[in-house]
Amino acid sequence: MRRPVVAGNWKMHGSRSANHALLTDLERGLKAEWPIDVLVFPPYVYLADAARMLEGGQIGLGAQDVCAEGGGAFTGQVSAAMLKDVGCRYVIVGHSERRRLFHEDDALVSRKFAAALQVGMTPVLCVGETLQEHEAHQTEDVVARQLDAVMAMHGAASFADAIVAYEPVWAIGTGRTATPQQAQTVHAYLRSRIAAQDANIGRHLRILYGGSVKGVNAGELFAMPDVDGGLVGGASLSADEFQQICAAAALRAAVRH
Ligand code: PEP
Repeated sequence: MRRPVVAGNWKMHGSRSANHALLTDLERGLKAEWPIDVLVFPPYVYLADAARMLEGGQIGLGAQDVCAEGGGAFTGQVSAAMLKDVGCRYVIVGHSERRRLFHEDDALVSRKFAAALQVGMTPVLCVGETLQEHEAHQTEDVVARQLDAVMAMHGAASFADAIVAYEPVWAIGTGRTATPQQAQTVHAYLRSRIAAQDANIGRHLRILYGGSVKGVNAGELFAMPDVDGGLVGGASLSADEFQQICAAAALRAAVRH
């Protein structure tokens, strides 16, 4: 049984007081018996603060990005070791906003993936096609290229301690969600590509769906056999909404058990 994951990417939102309120409400609403991993990804400057708040609790902490380099003269950058040092266990790599707005290519994303693994953190590798690619029926080609870049550099074995998130770019922050069947098709395809290299790792890999996941649509998405939870942007800023998504993931886990 793959344990579902619900991950909240806060993007560039929050303040010390807003984060405090959000995490307090969130912790209060989560049920200890839910067999799911709940993760939050605040902006860098709030990570240490969040780590203190979350210590000993149910919610795991991650960063939204990491430098591919281990340390040195890289002004403005933050290494994987530093993230781990302040309490992060997870890091998002290759989010479409990083790829598009900050020109990160597959090679750089692969190096970031490895940087996280090297210090014992779990990378959450994001893949997904743009609207133009979607309409040109290139979805599988695009996600295969993004996934294969990492596999070629680090091998399928590197996915034993990783999470993959399928995030169609046209669904991120748009209110337009992939249908459960669309998500399932891509998830099954991603899993099969890894399984072709290593059946066991493919079977156990957790693949999240991201793109306008909300309380109202999480249940039908998570009911799909290869959808192991969600990477959630906008809806992770509301404790209520995020809890509804977590409840849907917990229900999925119960049904599968
Ligand atoms: C994201 O930021 O990764 C995301 C999926 O955002 P949203 O849920 O707002 O579409």
